[in-house]
Amino acid sequence: MDLGLAGRVALVTGAGRGIGAAIARRLATERCAVSLVDLGAIDQARALAAGLEAAGTGAMAIEADVTSVAAAEQAVATTVDRFGRLDLLVCNAGISRDAVVWRMTEEQWDAVLDVNLKGCWTFCRAAAPVLRARGQGHIVMVSSINALRGKAGLANYSAAKAGIIGLTRTLARELGPRGITVNCVAPGMISTDLTAGLSAETLETARTEAALGRLGEPEDVANLVVFLGSAAARQITGEVVRVDGGQWL
Ligand code: NAD
Repeated sequence: MDLGLAGRVALVTGAGRGIGAAIARRLATERCAVSLVDLGAIDQARALAAGLEAAGTGAMAIEADVTSVAAAEQAVATTVDRFGRLDLLVCNAGISRDAVVWRMTEEQWDAVLDVNLKGCWTFCRAAAPVLRARGQGHIVMVSSINALRGKAGLANYSAAKAGIIGLTRTLARELGPRGITVNCVAPGMISTDLTAGLSAETLETARTEAALGRLGEPEDVANLVVFLGSAAARQITGEVVRVDGGQWL
């Protein structure tokens, strides 16, 4: 299937490693230029961008904290300056700070809400005028099945990821009249640095919960994000699509 992404431009947050890096690589295979936004993994983002450039796809790393309105505006402006347009925004940056609610600190709550939820809003806010001016485009945000089912120890994370669903549906309404689709994906357990520190027991529980009996890989999420970010998905908006191997059924 031709996704029609050749010559298009995407901005991916949290693109230095894990799912975000897989999305950037997948976009590059479609000949879509990409801005890789990251903070803690900015060196990895720079290395990946250099590799994609060397392979012939436009790519640039941008150091930015997704929680900053000013940094989001600067990242979008830098992308448009360099590549001349913006077609797809992927809000993927996220963190976890797990604790049961009676032990969760205010810092843990605020940090996760700031990065995971506010970090989507800042970039949507910054990209919206550019996409509206073009009268087309796509936004894809990365939520989680834990927004849908709840998970002990993840009050902050589940609340932030559920907030992304509300944000997705509202922006689908606000931006739909200008031809812009807004969707989110809800991954189950995916093997990345974010989950590498979990106990073997937790990972095994996730594996056995899944109907397919396996954990997901970053590329599984990337394939879905790139589809939703393409013209092939032009009639899909305001949707939450699970990519969890049947972990939450
Ligand atoms: P990861 O930790 O490997 O990657 C997250 C990236 O976000 C990192 O490169 C990190 O530096 C970046 N980041 C964090 N805070 C940032 C900030 N303030 N500004 C800019 N960049 C920042 O994690 P991952 O597993 O690849 O997760 C990617 C997304 O997928 C997250 O939103 C996560 O919540 C979500 N998700 C992951 C899983 C999973 O099982 N791995 C499941 C469901 C949802």
